[in-house]
Amino acid sequence: MNIHEHQAKAVLAEFGVAVPRGYPAFTVEEAVAAAEKLGGPVFVVKSQIHAGGRGKGRFEGLGPDAKGGVRVVKSVAEVKQNAEEMLGRTLVTIQTGPKGKQVNRLYIEEGAAIAKEFYLSLLVDRETSRVSVVASTEGGMSIEDVAHDTPEKITTFSIDPATGVWAHHGRALSAALGLSGPLAKEAATLLNQLYDAFVDKDMSMLEINPLIVTGDDHLRVLDAKISFDSNALFRHKDMVALRDETEEDSKEIEASKYDLSYIALDGEIGCMVNGAGLAMATMDIIKLYGAEPANFLDVGGGADEAKVTAAFKIIIADPNVKGILVNIFGGIAKCDVLANGVIAAVKQVGLKVPLVVRLEGTNAELGKKIINESGLDVIAANDLADGAEKIVKAVRGAA
Ligand code: GDP
Ligand code: MN
Repeated sequence: MNIHEHQAKAVLAEFGVAVPRGYPAFTVEEAVAAAEKLGGPVFVVKSQIHAGGRGKGRFEGLGPDAKGGVRVVKSVAEVKQNAEEMLGRTLVTIQTGPKGKQVNRLYIEEGAAIAKEFYLSLLVDRETSRVSVVASTEGGMSIEDVAHDTPEKITTFSIDPATGVWAHHGRALSAALGLSGPLAKEAATLLNQLYDAFVDKDMSMLEINPLIVTGDDHLRVLDAKISFDSNALFRHKDMVALRDETEEDSKEIEASKYDLSYIALDGEIGCMVNGAGLAMATMDIIKLYGAEPANFLDVGGGADEAKVTAAFKIIIADPNVKGILVNIFGGIAKCDVLANGVIAAVKQVGLKVPLVVRLEGTNAELGKKIINESGLDVIAANDLADGAEKIVKAVRGAA
């Protein structure tokens, strides 16, 4: 789960991290009130969406010369003007995809004078089972580009969970960022605070880009992005309360209610599969036959009829879906149960696109019989390749 920048900064502030003053605003009036409270002389009007690259982003409906999703201005009147232009408008950034995201809230912040911009992030490194720190002097730009063009400018070290942050970690960070004296001290303090926040809140990623040195020589967190480990959210009700469902795919929200592993994709073939490996293989083979999957969906080993019905409904609800491939290898899950789920879902919501079903494994014969006797217009497939070929053909034929 991700949260907005202003929420991330509030979380970090709880741990003593120095962040600029600011207020979220859902309306132009709130933006103006926020600016009046801040007093100036410099304000930053920041689009709050769950995606980075806002500064270089483009608003739909404004020309290519219009300013991006992060704007530095010098008066309350300008805050008002920019809030009017930005609120409700769709912002397209390198991370939103071409559809962009609608800006429903802004963050109005006091502006800072920037002497230097750094990159700093903490993330869980599965290889070492530790929290890794990634630091670079090349802040304010995409870390992927830095990693590609000038990998030597990125420093990485990890922190042993048994000891936590030691003084040498602070020195490693200062060395990576070229800091000395009081700024090196601030860096060490910051690292402690960030690590505490990371562990305490069960984050999976904490990215600060940029971390800046201000005109008066202090470190400030200018942008913050936090992702939480979903498996630990049950013990962070206060963080779950920050969830903004308007930022998430409604189909994914629905799927999470039924504990389905579902990820919406851009293709036209809806897939219902049991087992993550088989789901991946199904996506691959759909591509091999020249089409694109509309989703990844693993109904899981213990899928019951209700779960399958919910899964099927989510697939059908996607307007991009031009055909559905059900690919079930019955192991713990039984083919007859899955067949009944498919039929129940189709009866409830109807079926307007071709459906190919491949059943194999436990109770496969019974499952096939149930489908055959259902009166549904289903194309039976013998194996994975056959299923993929048939659904792609059915969809192409219909087009
Ligand atoms: P992102 O583009 O989504 O990563 O949004 P950021 O919060 O990182 O803002 C983009 C850029 O705007 C930063 O890299 C800064 O260069 C600039 N920026 C943000 N806040 C301020 C500020 O207070 N003062 C100045 N001068 N620039 C700022
Ligand atoms: Mn940023």
